[in-house]
Amino acid sequence: MLRGVLDRLLPRGRARAESFGGIIAMERPSALVFVDRAFMRSLGLATPAPVWATDRRYLTAPVEAHLTLTSRCPARCRGCYVDATPSGRGDDATEVLWERAVDELARMGVFHLALGGGEATGAPFLLKLARRARARGMVPNLTTSGLGLGEELLGARAVFGQVNVSLDGVGEDYALARGWDGFEVAAGAIRALQASGFRVGINLVLTRRTFPRLERTVRWARQNGVREVEILRFKPIGRGAREFSDQTLTVDQRRELLPAVLRLARRYRVRLRLDCSMAPFVCAHRPDPAVLTFLGIAGCFAGDHLVAADSAGRVSGCSFLPAEEGLGSIDELSRQWDRVGAFVATRAYLERAGEPCRSCRYLPICRGGCRAVALHEGDAAAPDPECPRVATCTGSQSGPRSNS
Ligand code: SF4
Ligand code: SF4
Repeated sequence: MLRGVLDRLLPRGRARAESFGGIIAMERPSALVFVDRAFMRSLGLATPAPVWATDRRYLTAPVEAHLTLTSRCPARCRGCYVDATPSGRGDDATEVLWERAVDELARMGVFHLALGGGEATGAPFLLKLARRARARGMVPNLTTSGLGLGEELLGARAVFGQVNVSLDGVGEDYALARGWDGFEVAAGAIRALQASGFRVGINLVLTRRTFPRLERTVRWARQNGVREVEILRFKPIGRGAREFSDQTLTVDQRRELLPAVLRLARRYRVRLRLDCSMAPFVCAHRPDPAVLTFLGIAGCFAGDHLVAADSAGRVSGCSFLPAEEGLGSIDELSRQWDRVGAFVATRAYLERAGEPCRSCRYLPICRGGCRAVALHEGDAAAPDPECPRVATCTGSQSGPRSNS
């Protein structure tokens, strides 16, 4: 059946050979399909590819690159992972660098760009860059708070794959999460984008205080025709580092997350996605690993499936990790991608994992949890301290038990 579906959709998709076979990227429906060599051959997509003679531990190129196009943003959200301000940090990369970066990533075979900020709509070259990416075969997606969404952008539906609007809560819950009242801005942006024909999703950063109000936001999404909500863990980087101990989920909330999300997804028929850093909270419920793999649930692939550039163009494994020493600039990524020692904290985690990850049956899926949280707690190569299994095995309870 999959073969038949791919036959119909492939003319609108792209494919790339990898050591295990290949990756097929489709836009509508949006999907990345990892297939074996025989499947690639049967589709006539590689016969055989040189990379099949290798035994790589990571991909030949990222599937997705997160580009922080600017450190400027008027919103001043209290947990901003970029530490963005209205005037920016003063070291933003030039338009020329981003153009070179787009060309470089396209040459490497990257499928998706996630364009963000700061507030990406404030980057004067946003649309031009997105068009450049599209012309080179990549799908540019955008994340915005809704501020600065002008007519020109609203007229560019065909350029973007999807626009995700940051909406951490409904009504006063928004301010509870972000420290300013931007709910009407975000809601207005969602409506304007929908009216212009965009595919729209919501990015929701879940905190200790908004966790009990998650249902309100999912219900709002349903009532307002938004079918996808990406739920992200609060990350301890930028201004989020200072806020982390107050905002991160409680021990009980980490355990309650999966049942709550499943219940809300069933009740409201909204696609609720948990970001990569939530994998330990899912694995804590001991689901069948085969089911997790089938559903594409995966943990930390920073510096493998994912790459990121900060607003100065410096490379890191994901946008929640600091720029990595020696990896240079995103417009020269192909020179660094296969360098020995590059992205070592994430790429080598499986081989180097200590207990309790080493003996955990979910290690190949979860990959030790979020490196950004581990780094914040002092060691990027350590197991995620907020994983329920890690907390049980080490006798620690990272974070408060309840929300009081
Ligand atoms: S013990 Fe490690 S691999 Fe297992 S779920 Fe926790 S963080 Fe993930
Ligand atoms: S460090 Fe890894 S798990 Fe954490 S957000 Fe980045 S890619 Fe996801």
